[in-house]
Amino acid sequence: MIKDAVKLKSATKADKDLLAKLEQEAGTQVSLCYQCGKCSAGCPASFAMDYPPREIIRLLQLDMVEEALNANSIWVCATCETCSERCPRGVDIASLMDTLRREALRQGKKGDNQVAAFNAAFLNTVKMFGRTYEAGILLQHNLATMQPFKDAGLGLPMVKRGKISILPERIKGRDQMKKIFARVQEQREEK
Ligand code: SF4
Ligand code: SF4
Repeated sequence: MIKDAVKLKSATKADKDLLAKLEQEAGTQVSLCYQCGKCSAGCPASFAMDYPPREIIRLLQLDMVEEALNANSIWVCATCETCSERCPRGVDIASLMDTLRREALRQGKKGDNQVAAFNAAFLNTVKMFGRTYEAGILLQHNLATMQPFKDAGLGLPMVKRGKISILPERIKGRDQMKKIFARVQEQREEK
């Protein structure tokens, strides 16, 4: 229960303003949620979250934005969109999770540094090659987290078994992919 886990406090105007901004950015409204729990029941990552999706929404309904931004849930979320698909009230929880992640990064809250580094490495490879490039993700992630040889012993056996390739595969429409990233960046700067 949220009440047991965190101390309830009065919401400030800044909390309310920030929530309104996040809702606008995510394109959804937390007030629509009636706490049925279908999102949490279907979430494949909820077992590893400190607050499952339903509770993240509840925190926001209570204007406890700071707690939501500090939750490990936003970094554990795999953006699979199961929660948004299942919600009978049309709350786009996956979009909110993504928005909370970006706000946390804007505020310098890295949460789990390893997850943030993985997130950045994943997006970089998609931007460059148009699809994921596992070896590149691992290399970037390890360099960013100052552990260059982490899991190095696993790399060669995985290459030999064809689980990962040394060179990246490139899709045809890489220019369009770069344009998508540029447009998203523009939209973020406009907000
Ligand atoms: S599924 Fe929708 S209505 Fe139900 S708890 Fe989750 S966000 Fe709220
Ligand atoms: S998008 Fe995130 S919160 Fe929603 S079901 Fe998938 S992992 Fe869970």
